[in-house]
Amino acid sequence: MTLMLANIAKTFPGGVRALHSTDLEIARGEIVALLGPSGCGKSTLLRIVAGLETPDPGARIVFDGEDLTRQSAETRKMGMVFQSYALFPNMSVRGNIGYGLKMQKLPKPEIARRVDEVIALCRLEAYADRAITALSGGQRQRVALARAMAPRPRVLLLDEPLSALDAALRGQLRTELALLLRDFGITAIFVTHDQDEAMAIADRVAVMSEGRVAQIGTPEALYRKPATGFVARFVGNAMPLPGRIEGGRLHLRGGTLILPKGAGGQEVLVRAEDIRVDPDGPLAARIDAVTFLGTHYRLTLSGAAEEPLHALHSGLSAPETGSEVRLSIAPEA
Ligand code: ADP
Repeated sequence: MTLMLANIAKTFPGGVRALHSTDLEIARGEIVALLGPSGCGKSTLLRIVAGLETPDPGARIVFDGEDLTRQSAETRKMGMVFQSYALFPNMSVRGNIGYGLKMQKLPKPEIARRVDEVIALCRLEAYADRAITALSGGQRQRVALARAMAPRPRVLLLDEPLSALDAALRGQLRTELALLLRDFGITAIFVTHDQDEAMAIADRVAVMSEGRVAQIGTPEALYRKPATGFVARFVGNAMPLPGRIEGGRLHLRGGTLILPKGAGGQEVLVRAEDIRVDPDGPLAARIDAVTFLGTHYRLTLSGAAEEPLHALHSGLSAPETGSEVRLSIAPEA
């Protein structure tokens, strides 16, 4: 184990409880995403780890057996990448990357060596002497990463590293960021409100809600075994199926579904990809809208449950808008 966070809580002056007692253990080289809606406490937790915010008394932050709780941001040696990258626009790539090392008063040859090292690691050789203003969004991201890596941080902390970019670039840089972080072999925590981003980059995702970690696990575990309705909604957009649960069955407006054996609980949720148009299905529904999405159709359905449902339909054609269909949902879904 590398980084241990124990009993991290934060109450801001005025009584805002941004974070309830939170524990988290992060292994060496592991990449963990803090995922959740705006205001759930992600940045507060990240800033506490960085030493930029003081937690409530009782917290403990330990790295490889060394207690960092009372150390300053400088001596903790965490690398930080901000949303805006906070690069100096008129300075060269090399100047930006070496800036922190210069502030640390490292000898010049050592600075040059380390700057060259991260420039190579981030594949920035061709841009080393360019001004930041002459770089693309993707190149700027790599400079921000290189700058954070140059002082050889123990842990890299990234606050919404992709959210300032447009959607197309974000998708592309997501993969690049995931690969770079693994090349670095660095332990990293990154904050995001974007489920796809968290799933694509992180080894484990901590889903946060209202100042608490609702669940932490691999992307697959969160998707397949969400611990709460909130997690199911947030990871994979599960839709509620409001109805009467009785004797292992769920009675809905459009029909009755058999629930998996041993299912308890008060709420049933389902994802669009698990609803099938099936002539022998137990649920009656009406197609209100059909949207073609290239690889599949998205159907908007009414009548099956109290609320409209969405289903993903693959195949060369979709049922027509206005038609009556039957739906099935596998019990395990
Ligand atoms: P997130 O990063 O998930 O969007 P934050 O950690 O920024 O959430 O904020 C969590 C809660 O703490 C929010 O309700 C926010 O308004 C509050 N908060 C954050 N920083 C401060 C501050 N400096 N003073 C008072 N309240 C704050």
